[in-house]
Amino acid sequence: MPDNTMMKKNGMVTKIHTRIRTEPFKNNYDLVGKELGRGKFAVVKKCIEKATGKEHAAKFLRKRRKGEDCRGDILNEIAVLELAKANPYVVALHEVYETQSEIILVLECAAGGEIFNQCVADNDDAFTEKDVVRLARQILVGVAFLHRNNVVHLDLKPQNLLLTSAQPLGDIRIVDFGLSRRMDTLTEVREILGTPEYVAPEILNYEPISTATDMWSIGVLTYVMLTGESPFLGEQKQETFLNISQGNVDYSQEVFEGVSSLAIDFIQSLLRKNPRKRSTAEECLSHPWLSGHAAPPPPPPRLPLASLDETSQSESEPESPVPPPE
Ligand code: ADP
Ligand code: MG
Repeated sequence: MPDNTMMKKNGMVTKIHTRIRTEPFKNNYDLVGKELGRGKFAVVKKCIEKATGKEHAAKFLRKRRKGEDCRGDILNEIAVLELAKANPYVVALHEVYETQSEIILVLECAAGGEIFNQCVADNDDAFTEKDVVRLARQILVGVAFLHRNNVVHLDLKPQNLLLTSAQPLGDIRIVDFGLSRRMDTLTEVREILGTPEYVAPEILNYEPISTATDMWSIGVLTYVMLTGESPFLGEQKQETFLNISQGNVDYSQEVFEGVSSLAIDFIQSLLRKNPRKRSTAEECLSHPWLSGHAAPPPPPPRLPLASLDETSQSESEPESPVPPPE
């Protein structure tokens, strides 16, 4: 059995607890149906565990990529999944298999697919604002958990946010921890990570990344979920990068037709160039758009001035954070 070595490189955690199985994956699982999806280095297929008859998603990861040994990266992905096991909105890791060339992660199957599919504008299946409120809350509960544990995801985008079911609209499962890093050991990021459209300005400027880097992506994500439009997307990568570093965002009525002003305020609190000025995941959860304390109560009927002192309460008092639902 390969040893579960510990090594740290750029914030990667590679000490894992899951047993890496070396017996053939196919002894214990049947592959069924077509591919669930694929990314740069992975193919994900639906499978059935023979012993239980239960459906899972098997993520096949190549250990060598571009001639380099990437086993450490895969162990990092496993380590983060282990760490987030307690959170319901992070996909559950069931088992791990290893062959000569691959590592296979057997994951909980998120049968509803990527939220990407419902982010497309002019689609009958597009999310309503009420849907987005519920899903954004779940994404933030998951991300707040990661951030409390000093983990940054660094690749939050609609392709990595899945649903337990599409119709009726189910719950969020955050997947793909391939780029995730531990903040406490993070030194520097020298390559541009992530997908251009969702990447924060500090990544483009080679400035330090932090949990705020994920918060930028959540701002972009929320914009896309509500409007069906990508706020920074240009014709080419370079144009997208320019749009991000210039920080020009279209908040016009045209784009946000039928969307509440609280939602726009929420997005604006995230798409701030200075990472220190962005809302944190916890702050987002108590934002009035998500906390359910949307509108302040209507002002009380006007009272004679004399009695006002005893009855009025400051309306500008900060709201106490509301614990997430569920
Ligand atoms: P990559 O690191 O290559 O991007 P991902 O983990 O993002 O790999 O998986 C690629 C795609 O496979 C996802 O975008 C999604 O469509 C699908 N997928 C991944 N995990 C699951 C899962 N647990 N259940 C269902 N589909 C999945
Ligand atoms: Mg992915």
